[in-house]
Amino acid sequence: MTRVYNFSAGPAMLSEDVLKQASEEMLEWRDEGMSVMEMSHRGKAFMSIAAEAEADLRQLMSIPDNYKVMFLQGGASSQFAMIPLNLLSGKKTADYVNTGMWSKKAISEAKKYCEVNVVASSEADNFTTIPDFSSWKLNPDSAYVHYTPNETIGGVEFNYIPDTGNIPLVADMSSTILSRKIDVSKFGMIYAGAQKNIGPAGLTVVIIREDLIGNAMDITPSMMNYQTLSEADSMYNTPPTYSWYIAGLGFKWLLNNGGLDTIGEVNQRKAQKLYDAIDSIDLYDNPVEKQYRSWMNVPFTLKNSDLDAEFLSQAADKGLKTLKGHRSVGGMRASIYNAMPESGIDTLVEFMKEFAKENS
Ligand SMILES: *Cc1c(COP(=O)(O)O)cnc(C)c1O
Repeated sequence: MTRVYNFSAGPAMLSEDVLKQASEEMLEWRDEGMSVMEMSHRGKAFMSIAAEAEADLRQLMSIPDNYKVMFLQGGASSQFAMIPLNLLSGKKTADYVNTGMWSKKAISEAKKYCEVNVVASSEADNFTTIPDFSSWKLNPDSAYVHYTPNETIGGVEFNYIPDTGNIPLVADMSSTILSRKIDVSKFGMIYAGAQKNIGPAGLTVVIIREDLIGNAMDITPSMMNYQTLSEADSMYNTPPTYSWYIAGLGFKWLLNNGGLDTIGEVNQRKAQKLYDAIDSIDLYDNPVEKQYRSWMNVPFTLKNSDLDAEFLSQAADKGLKTLKGHRSVGGMRASIYNAMPESGIDTLVEFMKEFAKENS
């Protein structure tokens, strides 16, 4: 068996430790005589798995007690609708920041439910930068402010947390959650699809301040109502049990390896190595303003795009897979989440040097 370095943006690599433990527990979890997939979600065994995963996530992220943590379905994309449905609280306007493709999707969905006030946008710069906070035009009557701390496709990331005062800040952290330590208390709500930096697809994690729950519009479907979901401890219906379990193994893996301070240092170093290679080798280019470059998703182009196919094919031969860029950006994209080992970056950088030498 040869496992490759998989640079996919999502579903993405999982830690080998997590996969090994899952495989050891595949046929029988502890002494239950069955796999986690076969357990009742309301049985003692799964309830303990669920509770432990939540406790570990709370410890990892230092989530304050006045926040609920939910393990939901529907992906981050369902949150694009659930957020206005639940958080407008009788208001007619919400503030959104437009920094790329995912911001745009959140905005277009929110427009079905409210007036969207785009407080700042980097579209005129082709989403290669982050709007300076001093330029934001916040509306004091807005129910919340939504932004995307890391744009997975553009590879552009906020290097600050906006201070929106009393207006709750809502963050789509799908591609940056758990990549470093953050202060959860600065947010009204954080959400993330699991398949990038948490675990398998099919799970969405929502972390929300309690006082924001309970004001959903009357038309809100029960499965989309944060009050219904949180009162049922994310078990209003059958939750994605196996994804929840694997996410829990991932939280343990992070805790056992120094927590978010340590992984944050590793992630910064991994990203820096890759950007250094892109900047120092003439063949490669990354258009993002340096201070806003993502630690998690690193897009780059070849100066001569005729070489793209050859680059990808030679990279794949070296076990460097899924480097093709998003169709909207072209070129390459290396997604380097927590589970991408540093040796994957070293191998990629080595290959980039060789390829440049052969093609200069
Ligand atoms: C991948 C991604 C999404 C969509 O996630 P789904 O779970 O597939 O709905 C939304 N926002 C960001 C920032 C993403 O990276």
